[in-house]
Amino acid sequence: MICLVVIAMMQAVLDMAQEEVDRGGLPFATIVVNAQGEIIARAVNTVADSHDPTDHAEIRALRIATQKLQSSDLSGHEVYAIGYPCPMCLAALKLAKPKKVYFALALKDKNKFMKQAKYALPMEQVKDKQEKALDIFKLWSSSQLKPHASTTEHVRHKRTQPASLLVRSHADF
Ligand SMILES: [Zn+2]
Repeated sequence: MICLVVIAMMQAVLDMAQEEVDRGGLPFATIVVNAQGEIIARAVNTVADSHDPTDHAEIRALRIATQKLQSSDLSGHEVYAIGYPCPMCLAALKLAKPKKVYFALALKDKNKFMKQAKYALPMEQVKDKQEKALDIFKLWSSSQLKPHASTTEHVRHKRTQPASLLVRSHADF
């Protein structure tokens, strides 16, 4: 049985989605609620404005919540999305491990309005670099098992790097 709090939280999501549609946007909204019942993140889909295909409401809400918590772990939190999440958001939600995800619109009904993702992504493994990639993973794995001062320092340093720096270093790579 769904409690009144859940109904109220979902109504807040619907209100956000309604506002988006009224302003010519997409009908997507997500909120993240902590164990105390406080909304710690709310987001809508901004792909049309940012041109970032990952800017779905769920992903953006996860980014806001995890930034606020300074943790990628949303254990104990609940996520409310207007519809059953797309495969990308579903995967991201699984990584964040919230206590529960609520949605109002079933996948089959949502799909009636969405263009199906029929693009077959061409992918290929660069086998010549398989061993080198494996070495990097082995190195990372062994450093996890035997943490020493410099590793801890390195991790701490990386964590305190501003997001802009991380993005730049990734782009340089
Ligand atoms: Zn999505």
